[in-house]
Amino acid sequence: MPDKSTTSEPPTSKSSGAKSPAVTPNAAESSSAPEKSGPARKIYQIMKYGDPILEKPSKSITKFDAELAELAEDMFATMYSAQGIGLAAPQIGKSIRIAVVDVTGGKNPEAKIVLVNPEIIHGEGEKREEEGCLSIPGFRGYVVRPQFVTVKAQDVKGQEFEIRGEDLLARAFCHEIDHLNGILFLTHLSMLKRDMIRRKIRKLKKQGEW
Ligand SMILES: [Zn+2]
Repeated sequence: MPDKSTTSEPPTSKSSGAKSPAVTPNAAESSSAPEKSGPARKIYQIMKYGDPILEKPSKSITKFDAELAELAEDMFATMYSAQGIGLAAPQIGKSIRIAVVDVTGGKNPEAKIVLVNPEIIHGEGEKREEEGCLSIPGFRGYVVRPQFVTVKAQDVKGQEFEIRGEDLLARAFCHEIDHLNGILFLTHLSMLKRDMIRRKIRKLKKQGEW
């Protein structure tokens, strides 16, 4: 479910809350390449459960430069190629506080949200839905999350903003911010379900399939 507040705006305008970086460097913009999609993006390998980077808290970002903007775009590309709706930096081996979310899976450019140093400042209601994670492929489980959350974050330029999410978007915000704190959705499952998934992953590892 895309954030309704961002869907009514024309694609050229700047959306108020959900800052899409739109950072095609000038050089690339003015090049004669006929493609609209900009420079080729780096597709990162996604870390799988078991890698210690996924379970440690990430560091705050203090440098808001072109490199960070590039990283955000590469994270979107990586996320889309893995058919995800959210991706946090630890999942690509970087222990820094940036995550990208797009609950439309790339269908609506206005739904692209970059969260730098995000924090949940308000949560409301409860929803229990099935959740998965690109770092734990093939496994899903029911997790209770707030139905509405308000997140305070910075964009790739360091500009602070607040954004409200409902249902799937709220869930994605919570899931990605958890990643930045070294928490995986498995933590929120029942012990029985969690142990079952861990056992299966151990087995896959032994078979060299993880
Ligand atoms: Zn995840």
